[in-house]
Amino acid sequence: MFDYDLVIIGAGVGGHGAALHAVALGMKTAIIEAADMGGTCVNRGCIPSKALLAAAGRLRQLQDKETLKALGIAVEQIQVDRAGVATHAQEIVAKIRGDLTRSLERLGVTTLPGWGKVVDPQKVSITQDGQETLVTAKNVLIATGSYPWVPPGIEIDGQTVFTSDDALKLAWLPPWIAIVGSGYIGLEFADIYTALGCEVTMIEALEHLMPTFDPDIARLARRVLLEARDVETKVGMLAQKITPGKPVVVELADAKTKELKEVLEVDAALVATGRLPATENLGLEALGIERDRRGFIPVNPQFNVLKNGEPIPSLWAIGDAIGTMMLAHAAAAQGRVAVENMLGQNKAVNYRAIPAAAFTHPEISFVGLTEPQAQELGQKEQFPVASVRSYFKGNSKAIAEGEAEGLAKVIYRSDTGELLGVHIIGAHAADLIQEAAAAIATQTPVQQLAEIVHTHPTLTEVLDEAFKRASLALTSQ
Ligand SMILES: Cc1cc2nc3c(=O)[nH]c(=O)nc-3n(C[C@H](O)[C@H](O)[C@H](O)COP(=O)(O)OP(=O)(O)OC[C@H]3O[C@@H](n4cnc5c(N)ncnc54)[C@H](O)[C@@H]3O)c2cc1C
Repeated sequence: MFDYDLVIIGAGVGGHGAALHAVALGMKTAIIEAADMGGTCVNRGCIPSKALLAAAGRLRQLQDKETLKALGIAVEQIQVDRAGVATHAQEIVAKIRGDLTRSLERLGVTTLPGWGKVVDPQKVSITQDGQETLVTAKNVLIATGSYPWVPPGIEIDGQTVFTSDDALKLAWLPPWIAIVGSGYIGLEFADIYTALGCEVTMIEALEHLMPTFDPDIARLARRVLLEARDVETKVGMLAQKITPGKPVVVELADAKTKELKEVLEVDAALVATGRLPATENLGLEALGIERDRRGFIPVNPQFNVLKNGEPIPSLWAIGDAIGTMMLAHAAAAQGRVAVENMLGQNKAVNYRAIPAAAFTHPEISFVGLTEPQAQELGQKEQFPVASVRSYFKGNSKAIAEGEAEGLAKVIYRSDTGELLGVHIIGAHAADLIQEAAAAIATQTPVQQLAEIVHTHPTLTEVLDEAFKRASLALTSQ
């Protein structure tokens, strides 16, 4: 009856994850892609940024003469080849894009190049080189992702004023760069640019830097990642106009009063102010589907698209296009769950257990609630909240590695021991957080976590220490 069991629009990490899961479960699947296979993460996001950060990290280690001396190592001369760093990132992108494309082919997913548009909840048009074809499917999944949001007043020329899309090409190294936005993308680029010798001014419209992080982590991150690196910060300031050129002119206004406060003349500006969903021209309006103010597609917890608040049984949406948690692994998890729901399950994603990380040096990671969020929930639902900290400077492996700056914070219910949130800043924090994510996913309380034996000496003992402290606090109440 239908051409396919499932047609997916968008071959980013979300669409790819859904496609692989669907074929594994026996669904005849096709995926439509208008641009590069792999989407944002592979081509303009996670992968190239982590490749640049890998170079930045090595460089920082080599530049850290004091730690090297303590280890008995002296490095005489360090040379950085900007083009080499950029090529490394692009080669990795090409490799991973190739692997991803081949994995779809190998497993029998049909790839349909072109622009996909929903004609009705079981029919999609694909336009390529002016030719339109129609395919029918039992289920249609929208996984069209997102693109950088550029606030009004900021002009992008791609050379001197750019978003992460162009910054990842590392076409040149501006001596002085303004980074607008102190979210994880802004922070990661500040790490890359400062390692490569650029001067950075970070501009944040809100009153606090890194507004989404737990306050204790943001405080330490500010000290270690910004102040120690002479990154100038301008908080509560709105970059209300940025004009490309030589120099780039940045007009800064008070974020509250909008009164012009300062004009910076810098060599470049990176705009990292967030992302908007790529949901235009998808045919949604014609179907009577209203997107929210910013363009995100409304879905229910099972990922059915909502029309007037009611789920459309055969139309689904996931990933950055719905905006619940704009991360690659969240998109992939949503894709898998949506596919299972197409087959009659009734699953949802537990966002509380999905970790997130900033791959700065040192890294920052978290899962679950921040302390203010946990306190607020505790007040609402009438349960007590407590937190404990443990420090990398008390960890043998961190000391041996010369990377003893860092902290882990564990937030839990002080009546039941339920883990509410874990936040880490320190070496390999992005890897360390997985144990906490697994604990939240499996609802393992701190009393049980404290009994799990951790390898010695490893950085995992930082969390072990925190779990033991929390457990002790619970028993000695
Ligand atoms: C600089 C940067 C660094 C990042 N680092 C990380 C990280 O370290 N870890 C992490 O988890 N996340 C990271 N992210 C976020 C991550 O990239 C996204 O959350 C993820 O890519 C979202 O996946 P998606 O499948 O929803 O959409 P996307 O990856 O954006 O893919 C959507 C695809 O749909 C295609 N498409 C759109 N409309 C149509 C249409 N009508 N027809 C056909 N095709 C269409 C697009 O061309 C695109 O290929 C980063 C993002 C950026 C920008």
